[in-house]
Amino acid sequence: MPPFKLREKDNYVRSRQRMVETQLIPRGIKDKRVIEAMLAAPRHLFVSEEALWSQAYSDFPLPIGEKQTISQPYIVALMTESLELKGMEKVLEIGTGSGYQTAILSMLAEKVYSIERISTLAARARRILDSVNCSNVVIKIADGTLGWPEEAPFDAILTTAAAPEIPKCYIEQLAVGGRLVIPVGDEYSQILTKIIKTKDGIIRQDMGGCRFVKLIGRYGWKADFNNNGG
Ligand code: SAM
Repeated sequence: MPPFKLREKDNYVRSRQRMVETQLIPRGIKDKRVIEAMLAAPRHLFVSEEALWSQAYSDFPLPIGEKQTISQPYIVALMTESLELKGMEKVLEIGTGSGYQTAILSMLAEKVYSIERISTLAARARRILDSVNCSNVVIKIADGTLGWPEEAPFDAILTTAAAPEIPKCYIEQLAVGGRLVIPVGDEYSQILTKIIKTKDGIIRQDMGGCRFVKLIGRYGWKADFNNNGG
């Protein structure tokens, strides 16, 4: 786990500790590596405006511009834990957004491939990830509903936007033994769904209700001119 490098003094160490102690551990997050990553990642830097930094470690999502959000810390921890990363994995993330989830994955896996459809968000995430020394992340601006076939297979795939159904290519691009986590449902509520690909087929697990912005693209929702997300 390479450490994050911060250019300025980190005034949020206590806030992260409180976040872990009050939001993550009481709700059942157990994986020590996930907890370490959540304690280390400077979430405030990924929040779009400095005026919101004081809320960066609170128990809710925050806006990051372009009608998109940085997910609630607990959801980031839950999705990450369910990928069961040990450190050597090649991971695909769909929906870079702020880059915060990407930073957490970069600490826990060998290499992270992340796709974002909104170029301004991708550029900002790239800048912040570089500034904190996340060097094992590749970001591309594209329709993530197609996956990243040139780099498949992946040991884990994480989709941080909600799909009406699971794009088939995600299962195809998953290695045998790999895990996929994705919110599936309508635009107002979804089920956080985990897929494990085995040599005999897939195992599907329901991890509970959630609400994400929409996965927009060929195998997701159609783009809506009034609303980029959900
Ligand atoms: N994980 C992010 C974070 O930590 O900030 C939060 C992501 S936000 C909830 C969902 C993101 O998915 C948005 O940035 C949105 O633009 C992106 N998105 C939606 N549809 C997409 C697609 N087809 N391909 C790539 N990104 C997509």
